[in-house]
Amino acid sequence: MKTEYILLSDGNDEAYDRAGRILREGGLVAFPTETVYGLGGNAYDPTAAEKIFAAKGRPSDNPLIVHVARPEEAEAFAVTNSTYYKLAECFMPGPLTVILPKREVIPKSVTGGLNTVAVRCPSHPAARRLIEAAGVPVAAPSANISGKPSPTSGRHVLDDMNGKIPMILDGGESAIGVESTVIRLESDGCTILRPGEITARELLGVVENVYVADAVTDPSAAGENPESPGMKYRHYAPRARLVLVGGSDSAFAEYVNSYEGKCAVLAYTENKNEYNCACILDAGSKRSPEEQMHNLFSLLRTCDEIDCDIIFAHLPPKTDEYLALYNRIIRAAGNEIINLGE
Ligand code: AMP
Ligand code: MG
Repeated sequence: MKTEYILLSDGNDEAYDRAGRILREGGLVAFPTETVYGLGGNAYDPTAAEKIFAAKGRPSDNPLIVHVARPEEAEAFAVTNSTYYKLAECFMPGPLTVILPKREVIPKSVTGGLNTVAVRCPSHPAARRLIEAAGVPVAAPSANISGKPSPTSGRHVLDDMNGKIPMILDGGESAIGVESTVIRLESDGCTILRPGEITARELLGVVENVYVADAVTDPSAAGENPESPGMKYRHYAPRARLVLVGGSDSAFAEYVNSYEGKCAVLAYTENKNEYNCACILDAGSKRSPEEQMHNLFSLLRTCDEIDCDIIFAHLPPKTDEYLALYNRIIRAAGNEIINLGE
């Protein structure tokens, strides 16, 4: 299949019309969002879902997120409630995904066999225009080959999907760089199933209690009957071994500098001159979880292009604002952590 690659600029009415038609007719379109790029298909069409799983090489029990242009569009396929609308008022459009009971119209292939459906209303203007042009809700996981880092640029999508899907819309770099916060509603609040840019602290402004699923910080807890099925799979992995190192910055530098093979280091901007290994990649400011989230997946892809047999990175703190980063990087590292103490 020939993949059409469209660089979005102002206007583009004709491109959105065609992309919308591809989706309505059961085809797939990759598109930018504020979190990462999505691989979209008509959420009402079970064959579109099958095509998504095939293009990604994704296990079919890993459910897809259904995207809408406005929060109330979820009424057509999900059972909403007042908490959903309270959250929508604060965080939608934006990087929040809410799990709700599904209605019959959503095929089980979209939800990986579950009776619930994940709803998200993205804020990226291109994503919103595409959903509007399609006229149907758009089921979309991240547009990467399963197991690889999620794509944060059109180029990443092209690397993974060229020849497999009819169209890629390139809307520039994803602003956030990690996937949405996924929450399940509880009678007294909500549970974070996957952390993202919207943190527990922010959610606490809207709901009374925020719980965090065990699998968020402990990949081994995701094995049996996981609450969010995606969490049990190895994710985001670069080809070379990724090792997380905990401890002070100076202990980290000493450890990295004592390594004798070909290594790369994901270094904080503040101390990136302290390493003598051949490949030093700027992970962002030590004090900016936003910068580090923005850079992570792109850097993991860069690591696949350079000649190294090991990548060292700082183990992020397990605190609220770093939780999304912590969750992604421990999975990318297959939970390989070395603790040097203080
Ligand atoms: P992706 O968009 O590729 O990051 O994948 C979507 C992720 O959302 C899945 O891997 C699940 O972890 C989560 N998800 C989607 N639907 C549900 C659901 N019905 N219940 C729980 N988690 C879900
Ligand atoms: Mg994904």
